[in-house]
Parts: sequence; structure tokens; C-alpha cells
Amino acid sequence: MLDDVRLHHGLVGRAGSRAELNTPVLVVDRDALERNIRRMAEFARKHGVALRPHAKTHKSVDIAKLQVAAGAVGVCCAKLGEAEALAEGGVDSILITSPVVAAPAVARLSALNERIRDLAVVVDNPANVAALSAAVQRPLTVLIDIDPGIRRTGVPSAAAAVELLKVIGQHKNLRYRGVQMYCSRQQHIASYQERTAALSERMEYLKSVIAELKAHGGAPEVVTGAGTGSHHIDASLGVLTEWQTGSYVFMDRQYAECDLANQPSVPFEYSLFVDARVVSANTPGQATIDAGYKAFATDGGPAVVLSGAPKGSTYQFMGDEHGMIFDPASKHVWTIGDAVRLAAPHCDPTVNLYDAYHVVSGETLVAIWPVSARGRSR
Ligand code: PLP
Ligand code: MN
Repeated sequence: MLDDVRLHHGLVGRAGSRAELNTPVLVVDRDALERNIRRMAEFARKHGVALRPHAKTHKSVDIAKLQVAAGAVGVCCAKLGEAEALAEGGVDSILITSPVVAAPAVARLSALNERIRDLAVVVDNPANVAALSAAVQRPLTVLIDIDPGIRRTGVPSAAAAVELLKVIGQHKNLRYRGVQMYCSRQQHIASYQERTAALSERMEYLKSVIAELKAHGGAPEVVTGAGTGSHHIDASLGVLTEWQTGSYVFMDRQYAECDLANQPSVPFEYSLFVDARVVSANTPGQATIDAGYKAFATDGGPAVVLSGAPKGSTYQFMGDEHGMIFDPASKHVWTIGDAVRLAAPHCDPTVNLYDAYHVVSGETLVAIWPVSARGRSR
């Protein structure tokens, strides 16, 4: 597949430069990526928290290995297929953060549990607990998923958590290791103060659930959660023992607009880009580029124009294959072929649109990494 990618870019057998790449293309700046990985690893270490970054963001064996090399204890995966793809590449400690329910998936989960050193999955339902127990050969680690209040997944109360703990205890094939509570809704609250207030309230609730579990012999060894938006606050609240931060590796517009660390500058930088090209330029002050709905996830607003346009230029989706760039002064005249670099509105679903990352250092293409778990959503 990678040879196909290289051929597509006319790169087989030679090094390339970023500017020569066919577009639209997903680009990772290796140096910025490594700085982001190091900053989060150091911050977690400083606060005595285990870091298990969420691989749903990058779906990449190469990036997972960089995170582990920087001190992560393993990774999280959203889905079983993602976990299989990363395990295939040699990642050997994985927590699956959504329940695995479909019968064929449960069978595959059991097979994966035989293959890797450390596999864990969250549960929120007694029937699912029984199904997992019936399927596995080697004991499987489970964590009780706790609903942070959005009614997506997770047990809805402390009493339900204790009930589930008891059910897990009836299955000698399962090892209870702790709890997960990921506060998704709070991650993107723009103000640090408001986000802190919202998360403090949720962590008080989590503490009350943990107290009930403890009272019933279920003191959690692992309390996992946190995202890029909450990690700095979670560090001071001190309830979580393990962090699942994902987007920090790349950043995106949604997170760039949040005050992540109670300071004017964001502690992480853009390392993920979509490089595009002007394909039509017949009106002053605007240009059509070759990146539209198929180049960026569409749930997070417009992409961010970083270069190749006057300061303050904006992007607007113009259909499946096209986007429009607007110069704020309505004067700039582009030439076809001009390069325009953009940042993703929302990184995770943008990555899933591409087969590969084109990895650059400065302006030189230094590697092509597959998006190993692209489309592995089941
Ligand atoms: N944990 C879970 C369960 C998630 O769903 C996500 C992202 O959606 C993350 C962690 C990572 O969070 P973020 O991308 O905000 O860092
Ligand atoms: Mn996301």
C-alpha cells in the first residue's frame, strides 16, 4: 500500500520535498509531533500519573510507538478493530474504551487477549460481562465504565457500579482492575475556569462512586479518564491515576480555541496539516483549493488557513472536492498551483479520511506512515 502511495506522489526510489507532494495530502511535522508527545509525557510524569494516550486520534503504529518510547504505559483504542491493527504492529498494552458487544467482535477480542501481553476492555452491562467471560480462554482485564452524565456508555449510578462489580466477581475468567470515566462534554469548554468548575463537580461524583466500590471490596487500582481539554485540570484534582489524552499529539482548531492550561499560549502546537493547492483562481480575493468534505472532517467548523494566503484568510467548504479561501481584504490574486496549508477543524475523523501520513522535517519528506487502523471501526 505504501508503495502505491509513493507511486501516487511520484516518489518511488527518491526522497521528496513537501512542496512537491500531490494534494490534498495529510502531513505530519515530525518535530512538532515529538515536542507534543514529550510535553504531555513530562507533564504526566511530573504529576505522578500513568499516560495511556488514546490512539483513536492517530490510528498509527508508528505514533503509538513514539508515545510508548516517551514513557506511555500503552495506548487506548476506541474499537476492537483499532486494537487489532495496533497489536499487529507490535503495541502490546491496550485498553479498549468502548464496550465490545457484537458476538463476532467478542470472539475476536478473546483471540486478541491470547496474542498480546496486556489487554483490557470497559464494561457497563451484566450480560456483556457474562458474554466476555464465556468467550475468553485466558483471564481478561475489565474496567467498569462510569457514565459522566451524557448517557452514552457507562453505568448510571454508584449502585449500578457496585452491582456490576458483584457480577464481575462471579466470573473467574475476568479480572476487575478499576474504573473509567471520560468527561467528553466538558473537554471543549473554552474557558479554563468554567471547565475547571464543570470537571470538579464530575470528579466529586466519581469520588463518591469509588467510595461505594471500595466499601464493597472494589477499590480501583486504575482510575482512567482525561482528554486534552481536561488533563491540566485533572492534574490538580488528583482523582485519575491514568490519562487517555488523544488530540494533543496533533491539535486541531477545536482545541486551539480552548485555554488548555490557564495561560494565553497553548502548550501544544499544530503537528497535523492538510496541504492543498489552488486549482481555480478567477476572482480576486478568493481561490478554490482541492480540499473539501473528503479532506477534512466536517463536524468541527471550518479548517484553519495557516499559510499560502494573506493573514486572516478564511476557509469555507465548497463541496466534496473543493474549498474556498477568502482574503480578508478581498484583493489577493492567487495563481493556480499555489500551495495552501491548513489545520484540521477536528483531528481524529480527519485522519480517518487518509491512507497515510506524509511525515516531514522542515520542508523535507522523511517518511510515509500508514494510518494503520484507518476505517477499523468494528
Ligand atoms: N478517552 C475517550 C473515551 C475518548 O472518547 C476520547 C476522545 O474522544 C479521548 C479519551 C481523548 O480525548 P482528547 O482527544 O480530547 O484528548
Ligand atoms: Mn475528537
